[in-house]
Amino acid sequence: MSPETIQGKTCIVTGASRGIGRGCAVALGGEGCRVAVNYRERADEAEETRREIEEAGGEAFIIQADVSDAQDVRRLVEETRKRFGPVSILVNNAGIAIQKPFDELTESDWDATIDVNLKSAFLLTRAVLPDMREARWGRIVNVSSNAAFTGGRVGPHYAASKAGMHGLTHGYAAALVKEGVTVNSVAPALIDTDMTTQDLRTSTPNTPMERFGTVEETVDAVMMMIRNAFVTGQTLLVNGGNYFH
Ligand code: NAP
Repeated sequence: MSPETIQGKTCIVTGASRGIGRGCAVALGGEGCRVAVNYRERADEAEETRREIEEAGGEAFIIQADVSDAQDVRRLVEETRKRFGPVSILVNNAGIAIQKPFDELTESDWDATIDVNLKSAFLLTRAVLPDMREARWGRIVNVSSNAAFTGGRVGPHYAASKAGMHGLTHGYAAALVKEGVTVNSVAPALIDTDMTTQDLRTSTPNTPMERFGTVEETVDAVMMMIRNAFVTGQTLLVNGGNYFH
């Protein structure tokens, strides 16, 4: 499929100030898209993403919003429509990984994790779907995690939030299958970002390939899900063969 297909389309990438989100936002910019660069607190980093998108040939603006907050999400989507028109592509990427021993997890750790990692995807999807259904074209990609299948290193709260994304993906994909809107997930593991190297303090790439994955390798999977109109309700693991860790 040629790049023209998504050229000029309006996109929202959540958590696009850094890491995988930034990579997705810049790749969409490179296809000539108009991208809302969402961030939580790092405005300078979001500004850098905006700059890279414009250098790549796209248009962008940055917008602070806590994606776990329904009012913030409404504002994010309304502002995006006002600047760039109806939303065609949504990448639900923002996420947190609260790391502590599993028997010390609190109710507020659980609530924060579910709200940021899972409820956000529902809030965003609900808010953009009227645009996509009206256009009979839309792409939603949920960035989940290998941990949904294996338990992972962060803990059960994180694994549960990411497994929930797969149910959300299947539910929306099935409901929208006749409407030109595809909904898929990309489930990475051990990608070289702040989450891996700083939050989780992982210094050894414990994957069968004995290396970390790159942001580019993850973005490549996300972009495939956006380009391909016949793939829906799927989860693609980008994990260096890491299924059993
Ligand atoms: P990262 O480097 O830690 O970046 C996280 C991004 O999410 C930042 O842009 C951050 O904004 C944003 N964010 C966090 N909470 C937010 C909120 N409440 N509202 C809006 N934005 C928020 O993470 P990453 O490694 O790129 O991970 C991206 C996604 O991939 C996450 O969902 C993560 O769970 C998933 N994932 C990553 C890996 C991996 O190996 N890295 C593996 C599996 C899954 P600020 O910069 O403003 O803080």
